[in-house]
Amino acid sequence: MFKDKLTEAAKRIKIIETGRRLYERNLTVGTSGNLSIRTNEGILITASGTALGGLTLEGIVLMDFDGNELSAGKASSEKMLHVEIYKQRPDINAIIHVHPVYLTSFAACRLPLNEPIMSENILYFEEIPLADYAMPSSGVLVDNTVKFIDNHDVVLMANHGVVVCAKDIETAFLKTETAEYYAQVTINTKLLGGAKNLSEQDVQDLINLKKMANN
Ligand code: 13P
Ligand code: ZN
Repeated sequence: MFKDKLTEAAKRIKIIETGRRLYERNLTVGTSGNLSIRTNEGILITASGTALGGLTLEGIVLMDFDGNELSAGKASSEKMLHVEIYKQRPDINAIIHVHPVYLTSFAACRLPLNEPIMSENILYFEEIPLADYAMPSSGVLVDNTVKFIDNHDVVLMANHGVVVCAKDIETAFLKTETAEYYAQVTINTKLLGGAKNLSEQDVQDLINLKKMANN
């Protein structure tokens, strides 16, 4: 069974802090988005309809791995997306789903982020794929998105937003911030007449470098 050092109370505080940071960095707006952390007892997830920028302890619900609430409150309407990602990826302990301006602009245009315009982004993401559109909170949306989760930690959801998974909530926050930055730089390159893409060889060298660093 999954065990780690943070208590459940500390994880609730981490969710509140991360919601506030996402809001302060302009990565979330209104009551959109949801956050979760895997715990020894199940999954701590934001309640449906809560504003991530102003979460309280009452705004966080404990649920099991079938999406049943184990504490007071109604878990996020995207709870099954979180459940399926945790089931599929035992290495993932935190998930952020948000609708940030630049990433959501790509999602709305149904464009993946896969242009080799920055060495750092290739090292970090290689690419950010796009999952097909489906109704928010539907089973089809879960299937369409989870399809990419085997090989990617960040997936755009067409005409909706993005989902980001990581080993812990701090890393998930940094990945969300970096993915949004990647989307913003990509849009800026188009305003400036188009980036000069890295060559296939440059990209391959970066992927090799990353593999060497991970071994
Ligand atoms: P919840 O408030 O139910 O978590 O929904 C927000 C959202 O982003 C739906 O996709
Ligand atoms: Zn959403």
